Amino acid sequence: MPDVLVKNADYVVTVDRDRRIIRDGAIAISGNKIVAVGKTQEVAPRYPNADVIDARGKLALPGLFDTHIHNAQQLGRGLADEAISGPERLFKRLWVVESHMDAGDALCAARLCQLELIRAGTTCFADPGNYFAAETAQAVGESGMRGMIARTVFDMGQTNMGSLPKNFFEPTDTALGRADDMVAEMNGRFDGRLKAWFSMRVPVACSDDLLRKLGALAAMRGVGIIGHACENRDETTASHLKYGMGDIARLEKLGLLGPNMLLLHMGWVDPKELMLVQKRDVKVSLSPGATFHHAMGNINHGKTPEMLELGVTVSLGSDSAMSGNFLDAIRQTFLLVGGFHEARLDPKIIRPEVAVEMITINGARSMLWDDELGSLEVGKKADISILNTQRPEWQPIYNPIANLVYCAHGGCADTVIVDGKILMRDGKVLTLNETDLYEEAKDRAASLVKRAGLEQAAASIWPLQ
Ligand SMILES: [Zn+2]
Repeated sequence: MPDVLVKNADYVVTVDRDRRIIRDGAIAISGNKIVAVGKTQEVAPRYPNADVIDARGKLALPGLFDTHIHNAQQLGRGLADEAISGPERLFKRLWVVESHMDAGDALCAARLCQLELIRAGTTCFADPGNYFAAETAQAVGESGMRGMIARTVFDMGQTNMGSLPKNFFEPTDTALGRADDMVAEMNGRFDGRLKAWFSMRVPVACSDDLLRKLGALAAMRGVGIIGHACENRDETTASHLKYGMGDIARLEKLGLLGPNMLLLHMGWVDPKELMLVQKRDVKVSLSPGATFHHAMGNINHGKTPEMLELGVTVSLGSDSAMSGNFLDAIRQTFLLVGGFHEARLDPKIIRPEVAVEMITINGARSMLWDDELGSLEVGKKADISILNTQRPEWQPIYNPIANLVYCAHGGCADTVIVDGKILMRDGKVLTLNETDLYEEAKDRAASLVKRAGLEQAAASIWPLQ
């Protein structure tokens, strides 16, 4: 692989220990690693034979993390809008779509999902689980992205929120055995671009026995557990009704809370539970887009400022095409910061710099990957996003971080590098065939919506002629 040299960048946002922002910056890559970061005039002469990416008029930053992404829900976009309640969304829309998919749908969905992520400047995602780990992994192999996958395990067909689809639950040990086989087979594939973890999709649909054994398996394999927790009012109430406590207290009782756990949403965590999250160094991924869209109460009831004050590692996720609906880490930063400014009547409560940490270094920490990823530093893996600032929404630039959070969006991504390989260059995705994918997605979606019986769910109230 030839050396790659990014040079003349107006700004290189390093997110290193000193949080340096380098004007007229350069980044040199050899193989899959960063070998130099500095001023163009110092770095460029040392790499005369490199493949040059001229980043004049652009801003380079660490490859973006989106730590809550459901690959399998991509073809369901628009089928959960205006769902009445949290349980209806889950049991009548999201899981209905997933349970009617075949392997071909899942592969198409994962390719499309990763295409959207790359186009938004995202280099690494965390997927909380589906039943199509092989197809999700195949798409990672093809797209060139970095990601973490997991296999869903449910051992309860009936919860006090609703019934699971028939093909969605298995006997406890069967589910665990299959998840463990998947981790053994997939973890570390594609030169380490793929991680495989265990999934705890929704705690109220998992028995105590399953959760305890899941914790033991994760410890044995040396991997993490990703799962939803304290997601909305109904789910929190359901946990209290069935188990006499909320998700976090239950996970503590079962011995699962630890630094290898990444919990999603967490909008309804109570103060006592929050202290446990801090004590056990549990990582948190928030999805402001999903709560804005689906009224989950994660901003109004959320405790992000308190989490930050306690030093909890907080990252951001777009959730899915059926939840947040758009997959764009940069837009998530605006929604989170703006959401808390509004809810707490305090425009300083979360600074834009903190939000940028959430989609870079904290994303890496959430996935136990910060030794290799999350900042632009010599020795780290070469995962880089380059944004085009020659656009009206970026002008003028006094503070590039403020513009990034308050004015920009993923569509500004121009060039994306993962593991030293260029996945998108000057706005052209090099690893996936976009036109073919859009055609295939259209055909598959038309069939899927019929099989799932959700034609009415997506119908416009305006006449479509
Ligand atoms: Zn989710």
